[in-house]
Formats: sequence, C-alpha cells, structure tokens
Amino acid sequence: MNVSFDLITRRRFLGAVAGAGSAALLSGCAPSLLQTRPALDLLIVNGTVIDGTGAEGRRVDVGVREGRIVVVGNIPDATAARRIDATGLVLVPGFIDIHSHSDLNLLKDPFAPSKVRQGVTTEVTGQDGESVAPLGGSDMPRLLEEFRKEFGYDCPYRDMNGFFTLLESTGITQNIVSMVGLGTLRAVAVGFDDRPATREEIVAMGAAAVLAIEQGCRGASTGLEYTPGSFASTQELAALVGLLPAGHRLYATHMRNEDNNLLEAIQEAITIARTGGARLQVSHLKAQNKGNWPKQETALKILDKAIASGLEVHADRYPYVAFNTGLANLFPLWAREGGTKKFLGRLNDVSIRERIQADVRRKVDGLGSWDSVMISSVRNEGAKKYQGRTLQQIAAEEGVDPYEFSVALLQREDGDVGMVGFGMDEAGTEMVLAWKNAMVASDAGPHSPGDGSWPHPRSYGTFPRAIAHYQRLRKITTLPDMIRKMTSLPAGKLGLKDRGVIGEGKAADLVLFDYEKIEDRSTFTDPHRYPDGIPYVFVNGVAAVDGGVQTSAKPGRVLRGES
Ligand SMILES: [Zn+2]
Repeated sequence: MNVSFDLITRRRFLGAVAGAGSAALLSGCAPSLLQTRPALDLLIVNGTVIDGTGAEGRRVDVGVREGRIVVVGNIPDATAARRIDATGLVLVPGFIDIHSHSDLNLLKDPFAPSKVRQGVTTEVTGQDGESVAPLGGSDMPRLLEEFRKEFGYDCPYRDMNGFFTLLESTGITQNIVSMVGLGTLRAVAVGFDDRPATREEIVAMGAAAVLAIEQGCRGASTGLEYTPGSFASTQELAALVGLLPAGHRLYATHMRNEDNNLLEAIQEAITIARTGGARLQVSHLKAQNKGNWPKQETALKILDKAIASGLEVHADRYPYVAFNTGLANLFPLWAREGGTKKFLGRLNDVSIRERIQADVRRKVDGLGSWDSVMISSVRNEGAKKYQGRTLQQIAAEEGVDPYEFSVALLQREDGDVGMVGFGMDEAGTEMVLAWKNAMVASDAGPHSPGDGSWPHPRSYGTFPRAIAHYQRLRKITTLPDMIRKMTSLPAGKLGLKDRGVIGEGKAADLVLFDYEKIEDRSTFTDPHRYPDGIPYVFVNGVAAVDGGVQTSAKPGRVLRGES
C-alpha cells in the first residue's frame, strides 16, 4: 500500500468497495483475491474533474463500481478492471437533456446516437404538453393506427407505466425521465375542440396526471401553441397543476406565445405556477422575430422578479438562433382547431382561405422572409428533395408561390411537415444561455446518419456547441458554470438526487471531453455530423461511447421518480 495514500479517501474507498471482499484485500489479508477481482470496475485518472456543481475543476481520480461513483480522490494503487488515462481531458457528469423529444423514437432507435455522441446520458421526454400516454378518447384509434404503421406491431401500452415497461424490455442507451403532457390529457378528456373544460373534465385530467406521476413521471408539461393544449385557459391550467402531488409540481411550459406576446405569455406562466403552487420551467425561452428581440432582456427581468418574490423559476434553451417546429404552426391557431383533417380542409375553403393566407404572410414577414423558413422534414420520399431548402429557394427554383407551395406540401404530406425558422438573434441567445437559471437542452429527438431525416443541428450538436461556441469562444460564462447548466441544475429541477454531480455514491453517468477540440459539426445544410472531441461517455458505469465510437451497450434506465 502506498504510504502517501490519503487516509480519509482510503477509508471512504474501502467502505465503498466493501462487501465484495475488497476491503479485506486492500488491507492485505488476501492478496491473491485482489488479482482475481479488481476493486473497481473503472478508474479514470489524470483528468480534470469539473463536478457539475459550478466548482472549479480539480485533478482527482474517479473510481466506479457497479454503476456508481465510489471514490473521488487520489487512489494511485487501486486496482480496476479498466483504467483510463484522461490526461488532457475534462471529466464531467453526463449531460441531462431536460427538454427532449425522443419519446417514441427510442423504440426505433434505442441507441439515440445523435444524443449519446454529444454526451447526453439522461433525456427528459413528454414535453410541450405531449406525452406518449395515457391513450384514450376519440383520438385513440388514430394513434393506435399510427403506431402500427410506424412500428409494425400493435401498441402494447395504454399508460405511462406500460410505456416505461416497454422501454425497459427493449433497452435504451440513456436514462429516460418523462413528464406527463397536459395537452395529451386534454385530448383524452375533452378532445380537440376549442372550449373550456368542464369541472368534471378537469377532475378527470387531474386524476390522470396524478396517476401518471405515480407511475413515474416527474412533472407536467404544456404546449400552449399546439392543439389541443392551447384551448386550456390560464385558470384551467392553474387548477390542474394544483392537483399534482405536492412533491411533483414541476410545471414545464412551451408558452402560449414566443413572439409578439412573449411578455404576456411569461406573465401567464408565472401566474399558473404561482396559483398552482408549482416550480416553473420555461421551455426553450426565446424572443422570436426581429421586432421582438429587445423583449428578451425584459423577459429575463420578469423572471428574476418572480424568483425574488419566492417562485422557483428556470428556463431551458438550445444554443441556436433557429427554432424547429411543424410547418402547420405558421398557420393561425383557429385554422388548426379540430385536428389535421379539419385544418387541411380549411386551407382550400374559399370562404376563409384568404384570411388564412394573410395571417401566414404576416407571420413570415415577422420572421423576415420566406428565406427564414426551411423545410426540415417530410413523410413521403418524393418530397425529400425539399428538405434543407428554404421556401424562398424552392419558390425561385421551381417557379411557384411560396405560400401556395406550402399549402400543397401540407396537403400532400397529410400535415406532417417540419420546418426550421430563423427567428432569433445571437445577442438574445447569449443573454438567455448566460442567465443564472438557464439550462441547456436540445428540444430535439434522436437521429442517426442515414435515417432519411433532415434534423435541426441541435439534435447532434447542442451540448458541444454550448461549450465550444458559447463558452470557449464567446465566453458568456465560465466552463464550470456552463457544465452546471447541463448537469446539476437540471438534476436539481427534476429531483434526480443521485445524478448531475460527480460525487461518491452518485450514479456513474460520465463524459470525458477535450476542451480544446470539442466542437459541434452539425449544420443546417449538413446536419448528420457527430461532434468532435468527446471520446468517452458512460451511462450507469457502462461505456456508451468508447474511444469516440458508440458501443452497442444499452445501460440506460427509466428513472421513475424514486431516485
Ligand atoms: Zn416546444
């Protein structure tokens, strides 16, 4: 035993590995066993550990056993099944993507490479008011049919518990947390009509939300620019949030508006959280459209004031100046009432089509021009050629009117067209990301090269870009603080007690990156590119990325609310 071995660290180390006979081994009782069973599964030495709390980096070793960090300290003589020399690398907790759209995509691609390769070890799904369950109401047959078409088998679940169990049986690379979507609950209880919920319907939605949380969801989300979530009033949402179990009143909201009425929408989010006794998470906080950019600062001031008054408020944001949504969202909400079929019908209704068109053109003017709208995803093979091109480019190249083209495309694709909108500014993006309670999140689903999609680059580059561009290059904050925004801050918000920090006893979700080389490489015109500079990612102590290559491991767990 090395005499310089720190006694306190050693004692903690021994305690941590006791139970497997290792304590006896290390104290010299049975050296032969020490050779047959290393004390640690993994030992990472010579790295700079930034522990996620915001504290400065320090040179310590980190030992992992059975999926947990069992020692953080200097343990030069410890034995380990695997030893990684992390000289020149930074070791941080795995990134927690607190606003993700992986959901059902995980059934198709449980390895979620675009997320895992950037260091994401936990994703939080069920966002924007939409969770994969519970299923029910008039829309259920359509959802079951869609599931069957998409996956080739009958949907085996009806509630969140069933979905979690399915994920556990198929296996996942990252850990998964889910919110329950209040829009989903409204679709089941009320349907897609624009009317207030009755008392009975509110009680039914409340009971469904409580059940979803009992089954493992960690809070509720809304998407108030989407149907049918948008049809819920402030009062209805406050009442619903207030029905959630006290310890799980996390309210994550894609607000009612993010452009001309951004400030009013923020006030509404605060009112709902305050009245419902909830902790607030503003999803993808941003001021959209040039005319609204000055509102970003005011928005943060309003949130700061709410914090000063005692409300817990955080926001998440992806590090890009373009958003990603459905092309249908360029169209007025009233035109979308009642579901896709009615929406597509209205686009050709001579009595209202002019009004719809005027509304859309106003919205596009607000964004800038048709060049600010890029088609990002379509369903049919024949329309794939439009992916990655702006409506301006398509109009010029094909000699069509961009509005008429949009309508025709929506008709052909049954409403399922994705768009990227270049609507934000760098200054506002930096202001949000630098804010003390901002968390980094992708707002994206998982992708892999060759999957036929044209994703927003945030699916591949969110976390490395926040580090490389906004911290290293633009220096909007320190590296330990940027890491905090990706780790301990979201873990605390979600109540994940044993993640988000490198500490003894914590789950071994770990990322090793080269601070000089880390770089997002995915772009709007060439999106399927993995980032550079992230050689290792561990989930629950198992290598998900090893030497820069993704393994076939699926060590992820569904974090059902007990840990
Ligand atoms: Zn959203």
